[in-house]
Amino acid sequence: MATGTMWTPTTWTSESTGPRTLTATELAQLRMMLDEQRGFRLEQLAALRRPGTPGPLGSADDEISASLATGAHAALGDIEAALRRMVRGTYGRCTECGTALGLERLEILPQAALCMPCQRRDAADGQPGGGTGSVGGAPVRDTRTGG
Ligand SMILES: [Zn+2]
Repeated sequence: MATGTMWTPTTWTSESTGPRTLTATELAQLRMMLDEQRGFRLEQLAALRRPGTPGPLGSADDEISASLATGAHAALGDIEAALRRMVRGTYGRCTECGTALGLERLEILPQAALCMPCQRRDAADGQPGGGTGSVGGAPVRDTRTGG
């Protein structure tokens, strides 16, 4: 048995323990960005919904509008979910593993819900939302009998 394991805190020189939380100023700034994007998406959806814009391409135009609306809807959902997390106080953390996302990432994508590793895994799975990570294995045989 080896005793006296030396744990050296390499470059971890933070005065407070745990992941850095966003300051009020940073949160306010990100909130403004989210509000802005939300407004933009709502405008976009309103414009797409507006009837009576006959284009020379007819049905092809409709198809483009439909795909644009789908994208705008998805983006709006992400933005509103982020705003809800802000209210709850869980904003800035990965919804999967709870890791702090970091200001750098949030400044690029304020509505980000997942950290990079989780996002990549999600994309690789091709299925949004958390699934049960069941790994195939041998069935457990229970030979015990109570008696
Ligand atoms: Zn994560």
